[in-house]
Amino acid sequence: MPLQAQRKVYDVCIVGSGAGGGMAAYMLTQAGADVVLLEAGGPWDNTKDSVMLKWPYDSPLRGASTKERPFGEFDACIGGWDIDGEPYTRAPGTEFGWWRARMVGGRTNHWGRISLRFGPNDFRRKSLDGLGDDWPIGYDDVAPYYDRVDDLIGIFGSRENLPNEPDGHFLPPPAPRCYELLVKEAADRLEVTCIPSRLSIITRPHNGRAACHYCGQCYRGCHTNSNFSSTNVLLPPAQATGRLTLITGAMAREVTLGSDGLANGVAYVEKAGGADQHVRARIVVLAASACESARLLLNSKSGRFPQGLANSSGLVGKYLTDTTGTDVAGFIPKLMNSIPHNEDGVGGGHLYCPWWLDNRKLDFPRGYHIEIWGGRGMPSYGFMGGIESYPEFGGYGTALKDSYRRLYGTTVGFSGRGEMIPNEKSFCEIDPVVKDRWGIPVLRFHWEWTDHEYRQVRHMQETFRALIDEMGGEVFSPMPTREKGYGIAAGGRIIHELGGARMGSDPARSVVNAYGQAHDVRNLFVADGASFVSQADKNPTWTILALSMRTSEFIAAQRGQGAL
Ligand SMILES: Cc1cc2nc3c(=O)[nH]c(=O)nc-3n(C[C@H](O)[C@H](O)[C@H](O)COP(=O)(O)OP(=O)(O)OC[C@H]3O[C@@H](n4cnc5c(N)ncnc54)[C@H](O)[C@@H]3O)c2cc1C
Ligand code: SF4
Repeated sequence: MPLQAQRKVYDVCIVGSGAGGGMAAYMLTQAGADVVLLEAGGPWDNTKDSVMLKWPYDSPLRGASTKERPFGEFDACIGGWDIDGEPYTRAPGTEFGWWRARMVGGRTNHWGRISLRFGPNDFRRKSLDGLGDDWPIGYDDVAPYYDRVDDLIGIFGSRENLPNEPDGHFLPPPAPRCYELLVKEAADRLEVTCIPSRLSIITRPHNGRAACHYCGQCYRGCHTNSNFSSTNVLLPPAQATGRLTLITGAMAREVTLGSDGLANGVAYVEKAGGADQHVRARIVVLAASACESARLLLNSKSGRFPQGLANSSGLVGKYLTDTTGTDVAGFIPKLMNSIPHNEDGVGGGHLYCPWWLDNRKLDFPRGYHIEIWGGRGMPSYGFMGGIESYPEFGGYGTALKDSYRRLYGTTVGFSGRGEMIPNEKSFCEIDPVVKDRWGIPVLRFHWEWTDHEYRQVRHMQETFRALIDEMGGEVFSPMPTREKGYGIAAGGRIIHELGGARMGSDPARSVVNAYGQAHDVRNLFVADGASFVSQADKNPTWTILALSMRTSEFIAAQRGQGAL
């Protein structure tokens, strides 16, 4: 394939500008490196592009979703489960969804901003229960980076001293909303730990950014930069150094290799015109999201690496995980006819329940946390999930309006987010036939849950039903059967996919080392969720950010020593 070689050789080429890539760009430019960042999506500036304060009734769609914005027309994030011209396939019998962002900042433009640290046990699960694998690093290795991520980005929360839920450098949390207080009371009675959320939204002015003014619309992007996205917190200071070249609309195709066996740049497609381009760099950092980074490695074949770059272990694409998930919602009569009041707050729950039980006393080995939702959010298309779900309400005209007024804010829901154990049957590989619109071979996914996950999700369902019952509520849906997997969401659907280039000390059993550096190619790094060894019962992004910071600092130190 003809590549238009560019003359300039950058110090570092980063692929992807989301959580991992944004942090790498921030750190490496601050450290003096000349960085080029390839981003498949287009530009976005939340201070101008966000529609944070628009009313749904001012739009003909009333906030309904569109092809590009599956979470609603006002959502900041452009992407989705299906992107035109960029397919992926599934092995027969596999249920898997792959949510991809295509814009500067990636999925950090939408994410729920639940920013949890992994705990000490999460890095050494195999030592504790014999399942999966241990990480080559422990909590103490990552803790200083978590601290720095907290200080740089800003996060609210409360100090709780829970054993496997490390506290951070927290800003004050917002007060619970009315329905959350009811949940807290029920949780206390059932002895389910319920504490303030930990979200990367600033409740006080922080590093030149204004405090949140509680409009509750974080997923639309924040005009005032009060929540975290790579776009508003990491990339502007990187650009301010004058050492960041951001190329948007650049779809990386493969990492290229020099005759010395080292990466020498990245071949990409200029999406606007379809031209093949090549950017040269002394170091390559992949941060295109876990599965896409695995795809890039697998597609980077050469005489030296016929089964894909950095893949001498054969483990690229292997041991993929996603968070387990299931939801239960119910109608809480106690919340009916409430006095109209303002429940605005941050765009997310003000309380959550970290894992509170001991798996040694249960029939499943790993835990989950509970995300709580409900309340009097801004009504829009699909509001309340359909009034017909509520017993004895609905109708037409005045009766319908009256029903809405009486029921507004009476739904409470719980989402379980649990740890999946990596298994050999959950992986991605290159589809032998299908290619995307630029002729780049696509991923084919394989996925299987095991009884560990099914039993855990059954426990979620039972717990959420017990909580709703304790609140005097009525659950909307019957308990899902074993045949329905107890309501477990399909693989990928929780959008926390991790693994595919896992870290380890043994090159035969891992793809990268403890710093995200490929065992096979010393100037190639992975700085997204691909390097994760296990999932934990936490959302992954705070750890992606901390590890990307750690990898970047390692790169800077190695450059300083002339080792790279
Ligand atoms: C609805 C939703 C809610 C979420 N909530 C939470 C939460 O509350 N807490 C949490 O921890 N996590 C959450 N997540 C997950 C979180 O968004 C991801 O973990 C995080 O963004 C991953 O960072 P990343 O850098 O690996 O990938 P991304 O943020 O997805 O960034 C990857 C970037 O790479 C670009 N790219 C991809 N392929 C190529 C290519 N070939 N060439 C060039 N560029 C490419 C993409 O366009 C994208 O910009 C949520 C995600 C979604 C969608
Ligand atoms: S809730 Fe706060 S952080 Fe979120 S969009 Fe509104 S002002 Fe910004």
